[in-house]
Amino acid sequence: MAKKSKREYVWLECSECSGRNYRTSISVAEGVPKLELKKFCRSERKHTVHKIRRK
Ligand SMILES: [Zn+2]
Repeated sequence: MAKKSKREYVWLECSECSGRNYRTSISVAEGVPKLELKKFCRSERKHTVHKIRRK
């Protein structure tokens, strides 16, 4: 029997302007990972730190 993977769709939210710019799926089988990613923010037109934001 295949193992059911616990995945959840989350937003990547800009830490500077709180814009939700990216959508991604993460594995929540062992808790929500603390991810901080440098992503391009379209509204600010620069790279900022984006954090996971659950619904
Ligand atoms: Zn931003």
